[in-house]
Amino acid sequence: MVKLENSMNITMSDSIVNLDHGDPTAYEEYWRKIGDRCTVTIHGWDLMSYFSDVTNLCWFLEPELAEAIKELHSVVGNAATEDRHIVVGTGSTQLCQAAVHALATLAGGTKPVSVVAAAPYYSTYVEENTYVRSGMYKWEGDAWGFDKKGPYIELVTSPNNPDGTIRETVVNRPDDEEAKVIHDFAYYWPHYTPITRRQDHDIMLFTFSKITGHAGSRIGWALVKDKEVAKKMVEYIIVNSIGVSKESQIRTAKILKVLKETCKSESENFFEYGREMMKNRWEKLREVVKESDVFTLPKYPEAHCNYFGKSLESYPAFAWLGTKEETDLVSDLRRQKVMTRAGERCGSDKKHVRVSMLSREDVFNAFLERLANMKLTKTIDI
Ligand code: PMP
Repeated sequence: MVKLENSMNITMSDSIVNLDHGDPTAYEEYWRKIGDRCTVTIHGWDLMSYFSDVTNLCWFLEPELAEAIKELHSVVGNAATEDRHIVVGTGSTQLCQAAVHALATLAGGTKPVSVVAAAPYYSTYVEENTYVRSGMYKWEGDAWGFDKKGPYIELVTSPNNPDGTIRETVVNRPDDEEAKVIHDFAYYWPHYTPITRRQDHDIMLFTFSKITGHAGSRIGWALVKDKEVAKKMVEYIIVNSIGVSKESQIRTAKILKVLKETCKSESENFFEYGREMMKNRWEKLREVVKESDVFTLPKYPEAHCNYFGKSLESYPAFAWLGTKEETDLVSDLRRQKVMTRAGERCGSDKKHVRVSMLSREDVFNAFLERLANMKLTKTIDI
């Protein structure tokens, strides 16, 4: 058996391969090569105040970060930033909850506002919308069959986590005043998917975690058209955490600026690097799946990418792995010490799992090796 080494020189042959979380460590190597250009020095007396810019509606947003966000969207061309409020959050996880809270509060009714997402959906939406048992909104699950009258919020993730598809609203009641949509664009970046248009929706969420891989900084931002919605989101964040770490914001601003600079370089372009890495991983995975004859993967259409100026394929951050056999895939993989997210948690079935494509290289290779050697157990009781 081939022995795969990890960065700490421990053999991977028998260890647990955890691809359940989308921990984006795949990009560490790139940033190591960039070296000290992203280093930020913070003195003991720096960044002590709660406040960043008292003239801004989002007063805890560092102006440097706001600038870096606008510049990056302008270079990539993936979202409109004009005439919008930027709300910074501790990850887009906090912002999604802030947005649901804001829309539900402003709906002003006496009954909880329904929250839905089309299956398969990002499983964390379930916890985000049930954990605090809010009386103002209610998780109603899959948006495909949703037909309740009254106010509702649809979470649209595009490209979608877990299955990488390009999404639009599925409830789709454009003339209904009570219909609200939150667009989660965590993966709408050129290393994952062709940038086909400049998105221009009412509430758009982005996360630093999945652009550059700096998930540990916990920075996300929302681009919000409506002032009242932005105000309510800010209020939520004040109550929840009185703002967002300035150290994180300053570091994010610095890295986003360096990222933007690399876009001008042929040899260092981050998105080019990311795209090549993802392409390589997807090709290897598709090869293993093809050889196996029992596993399945979605196919994605090519589209013209405005950023790269050519027609390109999608290489999603997660693989939505399925099986042709009647089996409980998450358990089968667990027996091989491969941890993945169960399809059922995403509102789907036992025959699908979500696999992170963003792990370190050695972990990804160990996964491929185990998948290639895997025997499935026909145990499903459906
Ligand atoms: N939305 C989607 C679709 C995600 O996949 C993730 C990260 N897994 C998030 C939001 C949350 O990202 P953050 O790290 O910014 O909280």
